[in-house]
Amino acid sequence: MDEQTLYQAATGWLKSAVDILQGAGVEVIAPVETDPGIVELAAITSSEAVVLDYANVRLPLKRLFFPITEVVLEFDHQPEGDVEVKSEPLVPSTEVVVMGARPCGVAALEALDKVFHWDYDDVRYSARRERTTLISFACTKPDPKCFCTSVGGSPHSTVQSDVLVFLGDDGQALMQICSDKGAKFIDQLGDLVKPAPAGTQLPTAPEVKAKFDPEKIKTWLDENFENDFWTDISLKCLGCGTCSFLCPTCHCFDIVDEANWQSGQRRRNWDCCSHPMFTKHASGHNPRPDQASRCRQRVMHKFKYFPERFGQIACVGCGRCVRACCVGQNLVSILTDIETKAKGGEDCDAE
Ligand code: SF4
Ligand code: SF4
Repeated sequence: MDEQTLYQAATGWLKSAVDILQGAGVEVIAPVETDPGIVELAAITSSEAVVLDYANVRLPLKRLFFPITEVVLEFDHQPEGDVEVKSEPLVPSTEVVVMGARPCGVAALEALDKVFHWDYDDVRYSARRERTTLISFACTKPDPKCFCTSVGGSPHSTVQSDVLVFLGDDGQALMQICSDKGAKFIDQLGDLVKPAPAGTQLPTAPEVKAKFDPEKIKTWLDENFENDFWTDISLKCLGCGTCSFLCPTCHCFDIVDEANWQSGQRRRNWDCCSHPMFTKHASGHNPRPDQASRCRQRVMHKFKYFPERFGQIACVGCGRCVRACCVGQNLVSILTDIETKAKGGEDCDAE
């Protein structure tokens, strides 16, 4: 079984499925090649542009629910001195189906759901989640940088998916229904697709070797807020934020007013803890004054603070940060070094 085979099995119904969904007024989002070798999730009008034989999309799925930038409100100074404020309309209620997402990107929404429904219900995020049905395709050829199994995931994970598509023994693409939304999706497509019969076993997932034990990482992190290791790993980090922006679980944002003397917009933009300005106070004081404290924050947040607050690791092992860092900062190397330290082994130099 390979990706191409699953893709071929799915192509049999993909075109008709897109036609049926669009005929019912549903917006369909699927992976398309936007540049040579670059695949992104994008709204489609026909199934012809869809590619399913890809390792993962470049930009994470989260941007469909938590956009890179969005207008929250607009304001306008009136001649009488008043300011007119117009809230941006909330998200339209159009149904959306994401077809062909990867299981890790979908599983990452579990972490975002916890954050955006924590002390405040983020209505824009919730509305986007509510209207969207997520159809994941099982991974059959994980990228060498993937490490989902080290953080509790799997190439066949169904976490947060409404349907998981996988290749059955008979060479047909089968659909495992994982939620009510998933059942509705299958109903909409009628005889076109084949739900997996009750009790169907998923095929054996392709091997993604576990690279570290997150429990051991956390034990070390609990004791080592102060450690020269943070300086060591920070020396080559440029603080560019690429790792966070591509991360499907990172969720920090900034609210800024972009205005002229007359009118403007209040926007929510992605932000990132690697940036020096991220924690800088208006007084000029910065509680994370150097890159060492910022690199420490990124690791601590994902593997210590988030598990303590929300009971799960804020990393799904997609490997994007490892693939994309222009100076070769490697989260897996950092974590395996920490594990070595936790076991009382010799210190390792940060790669
Ligand atoms: S680790 Fe790499 S991608 Fe992340 S901020 Fe540093 S230089 Fe940029
Ligand atoms: S920390 Fe890196 S590997 Fe983990 S989910 Fe984020 S981008 Fe993926």
